[in-house]
Amino acid sequence: MSRTRVLVLNSGSSSLKYQLLDMRDSRRLAVGLVERIGEQTPRLKHTCVTSGDTREQNGPIADHDAALKAVAEELARDGVGLDSPKLAAIGHRVVHGGLFFTEPTVVDDDVLTEIERLVPVAPLHNPANLTGIRTAMALRPDLPQVAVFDTAFHTTMPESAARYAIDPKLADRFRIRRYGFHGTSHAYVSRETAKLLGRTPEDVNVIVLHLGNGASASAVRGGKCVDTSMGLTPLEGLVMGTRSGDLDPAVIFHLQRVGGMSMDEIDTLLNKGSGLFGLCGDNDMREIRRRIDEGDAQAELAFDIYIHRLKKYIGAYYAVLGWVDAVVFTAGVGENASAVREAAVAGLEGLGLAVDGELNAVRCDRPRLVSPADARVAVAVVPTDEELEIATQTYALVGKNG
Ligand code: ADP
Repeated sequence: MSRTRVLVLNSGSSSLKYQLLDMRDSRRLAVGLVERIGEQTPRLKHTCVTSGDTREQNGPIADHDAALKAVAEELARDGVGLDSPKLAAIGHRVVHGGLFFTEPTVVDDDVLTEIERLVPVAPLHNPANLTGIRTAMALRPDLPQVAVFDTAFHTTMPESAARYAIDPKLADRFRIRRYGFHGTSHAYVSRETAKLLGRTPEDVNVIVLHLGNGASASAVRGGKCVDTSMGLTPLEGLVMGTRSGDLDPAVIFHLQRVGGMSMDEIDTLLNKGSGLFGLCGDNDMREIRRRIDEGDAQAELAFDIYIHRLKKYIGAYYAVLGWVDAVVFTAGVGENASAVREAAVAGLEGLGLAVDGELNAVRCDRPRLVSPADARVAVAVVPTDEELEIATQTYALVGKNG
């Protein structure tokens, strides 16, 4: 087909990240970011990958409509504008697809309504994602708009993993269950891991550790997710940059009843003021490692808590899967922090897990093994690429439909 380009949009509440890809060879043509939309000092940073040119705009950008128009202008300057007949579709990241969306979906009015119905369980993300979709639809009404959901990969979880131990009727009434997030990354990375092992996804069991500022683990059996660490919202699970991850829910009652905090304050505390940041004042693993090297005990404790939680999830998902072919690290921390990888599997030789010091120290942006050659379970680093995955799923769907 001559329509071979896909524009990927990831709309946040005040940002718009985008990439234009040519799907004949999955090559990036342009990438960029609009930040602080509607604020005092908006900024658009655009890179034409083919020429290597980077341009910045600091003029007013009042809303997502203005942001997308500014992006369209930048793309047109590079000769890859949104009016090009080569554009096949626009793929949108949508954070919450609930149980309804198990696959990428071409957006129509019913799809918009359903994404809107999920706003109460994703109050920060879905409204921003919807704004991005509506803006793109207005700009190119003739073009297929495809929603790719962060939750979709996890809809294969069995009820035993997806349900909380509360009254199912109450849970269903308020749509309370474990949905999981980062699904696009877990799908991509688990598939790439199978490739790295020279096997098919159906043939391997993998524990994926997506460790970015947000962090989640998943247990993937034969290409299908059977458990993941994030839940109703991205707050559950691992220790993250600013999120607490797992804690006794009674901590919330205690903070309200004894600490006198409001629900909004507790929400902000647990989502934005906890995790590594709450523990030591820094959420960047580079800074934490630097402080540890200087003998900072607070940073060391934060690191230890982070690793302890990670190790517990590796053990838990090992048990969930029964047999593990690979443990794979991805995202900013997972791909770059060799100390985290080393500490996370330290002492797990009994489970067949170990890293080779030299391999683990190699810095490279390709998928690679970091375990010793004779290891029973592979330990791997596989760089994630959520935009490529969104583009691939979008292109596959549009290709199938037309
Ligand atoms: P997100 O997409 O969730 O914002 P990323 O996957 O981009 O996050 O990861 C960002 C995090 O990766 C940073 O906060 C930092 O902790 C970590 N990181 C990035 N580079 C390095 C590095 N060289 N060493 C250690 N940690 C790193």
